[in-house]
Amino acid sequence: MSTVTRSNGQWALGEREPLNPNEVFKQEDDGLNVRARIEEVYSREGFASIDPSDLRGRMRWWGLYTQRRPGIEGGRTASIAPEELDDEYFMLRVRIDGGTLTAEQLQVIGEVSTQYGRDTADLTDRQNIQLHWIRIEDVPAIWELLEGAGLTTAEACGDTPRVILGSPVAGVSADEVIDATPAIDAIRERFIGDPELSNLPRKFKTAISWLPDTAPEINDVSFVGVVHPELGPGFDLLVGGGLSTNPKLATRLGAFVRLEEIPEVWHGVIRIFRDYGYRRLRHRARLKFLVADWGAEKFRELLETEYLQRALPDGPAAPLPEQPLDHVGVHEQRDGRAYVGFAPIAGRVSGTVLTEIAAAAQASGSDRVRLTTHQKLVVLDVDPARTDALIDRMATSGLHAKPSPWRRSVMACTGIEFCKLAIVETKARAQTLVDELEQRLDDLHLEQPLAIHLNGCPNSCARIQVADIGLKGQIVTDAAGKQVEGFQVHLGGGLGLDAGFGRKLRALKVTSAELGDYIERIARRFDEQRTPGERFAQ
Ligand code: SF4
Repeated sequence: MSTVTRSNGQWALGEREPLNPNEVFKQEDDGLNVRARIEEVYSREGFASIDPSDLRGRMRWWGLYTQRRPGIEGGRTASIAPEELDDEYFMLRVRIDGGTLTAEQLQVIGEVSTQYGRDTADLTDRQNIQLHWIRIEDVPAIWELLEGAGLTTAEACGDTPRVILGSPVAGVSADEVIDATPAIDAIRERFIGDPELSNLPRKFKTAISWLPDTAPEINDVSFVGVVHPELGPGFDLLVGGGLSTNPKLATRLGAFVRLEEIPEVWHGVIRIFRDYGYRRLRHRARLKFLVADWGAEKFRELLETEYLQRALPDGPAAPLPEQPLDHVGVHEQRDGRAYVGFAPIAGRVSGTVLTEIAAAAQASGSDRVRLTTHQKLVVLDVDPARTDALIDRMATSGLHAKPSPWRRSVMACTGIEFCKLAIVETKARAQTLVDELEQRLDDLHLEQPLAIHLNGCPNSCARIQVADIGLKGQIVTDAAGKQVEGFQVHLGGGLGLDAGFGRKLRALKVTSAELGDYIERIARRFDEQRTPGERFAQ
């Protein structure tokens, strides 16, 4: 009897036959090529002229997703046809590698939002800015504005090298030994938009930072600062992290990489993913599955022999932070000036607010704003004499440098307002939740804020598995037996020293309306029972 081995669609093994509809459309035409059709056809002839394989496929290569049609309940999300879910408006994601923006760039994004996006803007936990209500007719003019300011939406979504995370305080932090920004810049300039890397098995997420403030444990490839006992400062290399439905923490390869080698090593890792990644099933197409099957030793050997043609030196593990570095508050830069981190609620701002931030930064002597991986932002280079004025001015726009612990620690994904996969509301619920918790728990003084992350569906755009309290949106039954919006609870996840995934408490589901009660109970119980210095995830 012969054994038939099923192809996983690994190109390096000669398995080039496309095995699912995504692989078919990517093979038929590169996602990047949709730009010409948007400029020459779709923006002129309107939404109805868009080819379905572009609409629900290739548009992502330029940061465009159709929004959810308003009024469709979360309970119907899974059963409804894609064309019924699609609104005629788009979400547009602006990729901001390293989270670095000039005041002028921020002002331009604000202008695009107010002119073309009904004044919407969200800061994401991957240092992007997302705008909504974008019409296809306006996309060429938007690109002209953004690109004129040195910004891009290229490969902001799709099966591509996504935005590269970097430390929001790169180049200014007193704790940093090497500023990794040149490596981020080199990768962006050389490889973003490169057709050789625009058909990956799925998305590919990167973090490059001296400080471990970019969630390196949950990226496809990460470089984190470490001092080698003989070779000096450089970077530890991790691969295969990711959350979503099969979460995995990244694996250290035990290799040591110098700053100037990062682009070459990154290029090797992404090509392994392109060539060997599994393309048969979308939910197994992330790099983490290949790394889990191969292990660190085999992955490193292939990287060194087939892709780099040289061995990398062994290196030590990077130190892990005790608590998340969100950079909120006033901090001294190494040049004596200050950086000030501000917390909106769950990243929700607006075009008007972005424009105001740019103006406030400039009035404080700064031309640089950075986005964080916690849906926050940091103004760099502030004249220390002007920090108070900046803080007061930003507070009038709802951005706080001394936020309550709840405002500081709540994150939320896009949710049902705009996302076609969502089952429940998240952003607005995060806003009301913060208000509730600020009132209910004003007397509670925890040593560290509890990270509370809300997701609108089983995906993990807001990193629920690595939150103290992770909330996964689903329809639940309330006390009266009604089907209502609610959350499955995951408790005790974390990154850094506490890296691990929260326990999913199967029986524990909470309705959206009961969320304030539930979190109050849990926070008070933790406060009563904890020993000094104990963290929630311990
Ligand atoms: Fe959409 Fe789900 Fe991601 Fe939230 S977690 S933005 S609902 S896909």
